Amino acid sequence: MPGTQAKALARLGIMTVRDLLYYFPSRYGDTAEIRFIENIQKGEEVVLYGTLSHLKTKKAFRTKTPLAEATLADDTGTIKIIWFHQAYLAKMFQEGALVKAQGKVSERNGSFSLLNPKIESVPKMPIGVGNSLFSKDANLGTLYPVYPETKGITSNWIYHTIQKIFSSGTLTLFPDPIPEEILRKYNLPTLSTALVWIHAPQKEKDAQAARKRFAFEEIFFIQLQRQKEKLEWKSHEAYTVVVNTDSIRPFIDKFPFPLTNAQEKSIDALFSDFQRGHPMSRLLEGDVGSGKTAVAAAGAYAIVTTRPKGQDFGNLQVAYMAPTEILATQHFESFIEYFHGSSISIGLITGSGCRKFPSKVNPGGWTDISRKQLLTWVANGEIPILIGTHALIQKTVRFKHLAYIVIDEQHRFGTAQRQKLREKEGILPHLLSMTATPIPRTLALTLYGDLDLSLLDEMPPGRKPIVTEIVPPDKRIDVYARVREELLKGRQAYVICTRIDEPDPDKEKAILAKSVKEEAKRLKKDIFPEYVIDILHSKMSPKQKQETMLRFKEDRIDILVATSVVEVGVNVPNATVIIIEGGERFGLAQLHQLRGRVMRSSYQPYCFVFAETKSQTSVQRLQALKKAKSGFDLAEYDLLQRGAGDLFGRKQWGITDLGMEAIKNLKMVEAAREEATIIITRDATLNSYPLIQAKIQETKKVIHFE
Ligand code: ADP
Ligand code: MG
Repeated sequence: MPGTQAKALARLGIMTVRDLLYYFPSRYGDTAEIRFIENIQKGEEVVLYGTLSHLKTKKAFRTKTPLAEATLADDTGTIKIIWFHQAYLAKMFQEGALVKAQGKVSERNGSFSLLNPKIESVPKMPIGVGNSLFSKDANLGTLYPVYPETKGITSNWIYHTIQKIFSSGTLTLFPDPIPEEILRKYNLPTLSTALVWIHAPQKEKDAQAARKRFAFEEIFFIQLQRQKEKLEWKSHEAYTVVVNTDSIRPFIDKFPFPLTNAQEKSIDALFSDFQRGHPMSRLLEGDVGSGKTAVAAAGAYAIVTTRPKGQDFGNLQVAYMAPTEILATQHFESFIEYFHGSSISIGLITGSGCRKFPSKVNPGGWTDISRKQLLTWVANGEIPILIGTHALIQKTVRFKHLAYIVIDEQHRFGTAQRQKLREKEGILPHLLSMTATPIPRTLALTLYGDLDLSLLDEMPPGRKPIVTEIVPPDKRIDVYARVREELLKGRQAYVICTRIDEPDPDKEKAILAKSVKEEAKRLKKDIFPEYVIDILHSKMSPKQKQETMLRFKEDRIDILVATSVVEVGVNVPNATVIIIEGGERFGLAQLHQLRGRVMRSSYQPYCFVFAETKSQTSVQRLQALKKAKSGFDLAEYDLLQRGAGDLFGRKQWGITDLGMEAIKNLKMVEAAREEATIIITRDATLNSYPLIQAKIQETKKVIHFE
């Protein structure tokens, strides 16, 4: 195989014959849709197969536009093909080349032509067309597979290569990793049958049965792997923390609000995990603003008020990791508020510096300290709570008795970073992952099969439902008037733009997208001259970002124009309006997270989504944002409408499009989960399932490869 082709295959993730067999068609074309030239009508979109002749290039008579012409012939007639501006195309084909042409039929002076059709060489006529009309190929009914292509690899090439593998008889070399009893129970085809059915189906039904099998296979193996990890994790020793509910009350009572029932329940779940002697591995999933921080903090209090085993001094330790410096700093400040007066020291470590609370000179506040000093105090246990960005998981950061790790907005961390936390030896810490990513239940069951789930499905009382409006371009001014009303009441606003700088004039599409810098200037000059407007984006230094955020928090900025950096966790309760420019460029889940920024108080919040799009489906999709009551509703909606491509973190999950189809099917996910549980409980080592073991090894390699 030529090197370029191997490279092209590698781009598709295909390294082995097995990989190629698992490269599935994205859809099936039906040869029944292929037309004979004698039957076509003006205006129709057609697929024609035939041979090319009379290839020539010239310039158009009046406009001098370069163009190429050819004649396409099948057994029933001929049609002219014309390519404007694409004269080179004619040079790519030889006289007599067999091609597939797809395009719209135009008519001129009574004769038909195809203008700028999509055209490709084909090695032979598909079955059912032309000469082969009556020769039924045993391998192919009227369906032909269409594969996702990449430069250098056509769908056709893949099809023929797979046919060669089929006829070489090597299919039997691939034993079925799914146990027979499971196949029988759910009426799934065996691996070799399913491979034939998916690549060369005779009937639509066979293709569907094969897809179902591979979807099941994918989910089943994810489940097996996650459940195995879970068992392994839970077999380790952890610090046993027995929580006395009475002793925790005074801490919780110091919160400036009573806990919701959902928060209480989640805290109870944490505490009962802490007592087990094995490491907790729990996911706290709650919509933006549902109050996850307070839950994590109650856990932290229980940990740091516990003495290390056999000691009557010192504290167990907590590591609290956030995805951005802004967030880490915000948590540091909240924790100071919560732990004030408890004689517990708190450290902050980020890329731009370290802090410690309390400060010697000012016991109510914090002080900057050197990284070295901080690390020393963490290592000897003097600082029991360390909050930070991923600077927190560097090798140089050593704890004395790390008993509890909180990962905030866990979907923002890569698999590798999360894995790192789990590679520890000895006594393992309890792990609380938190996310506001509203993901559908089936997906959570699958992807987080290794985690126990706590849901914060209840908002703190007194929150008003957000008013969301999808605003067409001509209503912009009205919206600004309503924003001004809020500003007059003393509230603050966010304006979210997709770009940082003024648009790149080379990129046509970008011209439409507003930029943070330009929009801030425009708003100041034309719309809100009397207000303080500032900007926030990812290219600013962490220090600048923090200063800006602080000024916004202290109400010294009225309107903050920002990129989606404010998307995660930022807490400014007085900000009640968010304007999102170019709403169609964001996924629904992300839009929901963005509007979560203004749902943090008892004021009436507003979200105005400006959409430039005229596409009906885009507008409809955005309308869903208006109706959805929670992020969970929205995630379900997005999943059903367009697959999970838009959901957060999709890339990190390593799940295929086919797997995503399965996720839409609760029954299938539950079945796969059930079967995986049966196998894991029978044999956690999987030693008695060598085929399953081999497959899991392979999957791990693939994920590692990314
Ligand atoms: P998230 O779940 O998005 O991380 P936070 O923990 O940042 O949410 O909480 C959002 C806001 O709600 C904060 O201002 C917090 O003080 C407040 N809050 C949390 N729990 C409650 C509650 N039970 N009642 C009222 N307000 C609460
Ligand atoms: Mg949060």
